[in-house]
Amino acid sequence: MAEPSLLILGGTSLAANLARVISSLKLRAVYSLAGRTEPTSTPDMEIRTGGFGGAYALADYLKRENFTAVIDATHAHAAGISANARAACTQAGVALLRLQEPPWVMVPGDNWIDAADITEARDKAAEIASRVFVSTGRQAMEDFADDPRSWWLARVIAPGADLPELSNGEYVYARGPFDLVEELALLRDHDIGAIISKYAGGTATYAKIAAARQLAIPVVMIARPVSNDAEQAETVAEAVTWLQKVL
Ligand code: NAP
Repeated sequence: MAEPSLLILGGTSLAANLARVISSLKLRAVYSLAGRTEPTSTPDMEIRTGGFGGAYALADYLKRENFTAVIDATHAHAAGISANARAACTQAGVALLRLQEPPWVMVPGDNWIDAADITEARDKAAEIASRVFVSTGRQAMEDFADDPRSWWLARVIAPGADLPELSNGEYVYARGPFDLVEELALLRDHDIGAIISKYAGGTATYAKIAAARQLAIPVVMIARPVSNDAEQAETVAEAVTWLQKVL
């Protein structure tokens, strides 16, 4: 019988935390990254980088490499890879767990404005503020490149040829996790009147939400994609328990 082995679909702080715990277990594990940015540190296990080439190719990879289980610990908004993981695991007969932190909960003082997607978020933010902090990552920057309605401060991890020039805005380069003091300073220093954020969860990027509350700045919140019907876990401990059950 093949040795039990695990594929972790990563790219988040939660995935890195999971990998740290898994690396101490006697188990073959592979950590997979999309490869959009250069990681600052990688877990102590086999790493693979780059897309698989869609759901069928991922299913082939799972079968070829004899994986027993997959933990999809990608970002809540990484809907493409999650859907592929669901389809591929079904096809390959491999156990799948979706690990993601629970979504943030509104507390008194929060002013969140719902948006279905990045375009709606941009339009809503432009209506209410002349200077907007865009904290949604590098993927949709074309939407802001030539929009003169507001000044856009876009935070991304690092420069890259994929980033269009912002005719009315600028980039700030930084990698989370972020703390409240630095988020308050960023918002104040740039006189920000609204934030665009993906509706995520966990602590790594929550400080901007707390800072917005403190400064009474509205947050235009882009809805989470609907999660697929894979088994769900919210913590590393729950994921490890699941793994022990399926291996
Ligand atoms: P996505 O739209 O779901 O993924 C696009 C494609 O990238 C996937 O179809 C897959 O290519 C490849 N891919 C994504 N994650 C991968 C992984 N862990 N290992 C190997 N291939 C992967 O995802 P995204 O929103 O572009 O996010 C890309 C990565 O950045 C994810 O791993 C995610 O965890 C991380 N991230 C995303 C966000 C966000 O806001 N979306 C925030 C923080 C971190 P193929 O179809 O060719 O297999």
